Amino acid sequence: MPSFSHSRIGKYESCPLQYKFAYIDRIKVVAEDTIETFLGSRAHEALEKLYKDKRFEKLMSLEELLEYYNKLWKENWKDTIIIVKEEYTQENYRKIGERCLTDYYNRHKPFDEGKIIGLETMDFLPLDDEGNYKFHIRIDRLMDMGDGLYEVHDYKTGSSMPEQEELDEDRQLAMYSLWVRRRFKDFKKVRLVWHYLAFDKEVDSFRTKEQLEDLRKDVMEEIRKIEAAEEFPANVSRFCDWCLYKSICPEWRHGEELEEKPENEYLNDPGLKLVDEYVRIKGELDEQKKEAEEKLEKLKEALIVFCEKEGISVVFGSDNKISVKGYEYIKFPGKNTKEREELVEVLRGIGKFDDVSELDVYALVKVLRDKEWDEKELKKLREFETKEKSYRLSVSKK
Ligand code: SF4
Repeated sequence: MPSFSHSRIGKYESCPLQYKFAYIDRIKVVAEDTIETFLGSRAHEALEKLYKDKRFEKLMSLEELLEYYNKLWKENWKDTIIIVKEEYTQENYRKIGERCLTDYYNRHKPFDEGKIIGLETMDFLPLDDEGNYKFHIRIDRLMDMGDGLYEVHDYKTGSSMPEQEELDEDRQLAMYSLWVRRRFKDFKKVRLVWHYLAFDKEVDSFRTKEQLEDLRKDVMEEIRKIEAAEEFPANVSRFCDWCLYKSICPEWRHGEELEEKPENEYLNDPGLKLVDEYVRIKGELDEQKKEAEEKLEKLKEALIVFCEKEGISVVFGSDNKISVKGYEYIKFPGKNTKEREELVEVLRGIGKFDDVSELDVYALVKVLRDKEWDEKELKKLREFETKEKSYRLSVSKK
């Protein structure tokens, strides 16, 4: 039975196709670092060294910490590291790391609070009694603060900082908290601490026993959902720029191949020609349609005015005639309005609701697609399901 990590589950949640490439097809890709992950790794390593030395009663000076960080940066740097934001250089990012470490050092020196009991701690948390499901644990720094208080510390070097509510819902550190509770029998409380280094901010959160049990169940459910998945659709998002499978992803492959082609071959690409022609003709058609619709609307208004003025209801042309009839139509309150709710209540009250309500097949498709019911109920539903394939073409800017 495979073990699951926060990042593995997160991969499925952010793009099921990416998950399939990585964990089912096990497609090996040369994982070039992005500058963001490179910076994160160097900052983590520098802080690990700071606390490792501290464990040996040696306090690094700020200069030593920055020297160590810059040494790591130089030794590990490769020109293949990806910088997506082209307006910034390697040097800009290196300096961000220096600033993060300087702020952190000045805020926390002399690093005397609590006892360091783990650095880059790795373990597995069993999720069920049988031990079939396991969750990867990897804690940046684990502290024993005394009196049964433990702290799980996590360093973040990213350029965004979540709201407190998001952190109170965070899965990764909460799962680590569950591990601490099981591992240390004297625990009374676990404090989850995030260090947002780029903001020089420390944020914390606590979880109750009940919240952790709910979380464990949710994680189990998510894992079962992943294991039962039969389809792995692509989910295009801003994260595609960082995806290692972009060059083989059906959403991007053609574009990536075009980028590689020299100009003469590029313009002769059959796919590119088809798209350009399709967009040209569709553009012409849309323009003609718009003009024609505007003309029709004006003619319609003119015909109504003509009929009213002449006191007639049918206007004759050379080969055709147009009947102009005003009519009243009945309307009921729209969806999601208070009036609609009242109407439904009235209909239920007089026992007529079923006479005028219909089965919502779109809702059923959603139930099936998102597996919203339990497996037994879904199985019954699938007996009525048939599959057809159709294509929808949508044009958008690259
Ligand atoms: S490129 Fe985007 S859509 Fe394609 S697999 Fe990666 S994350 Fe998913």
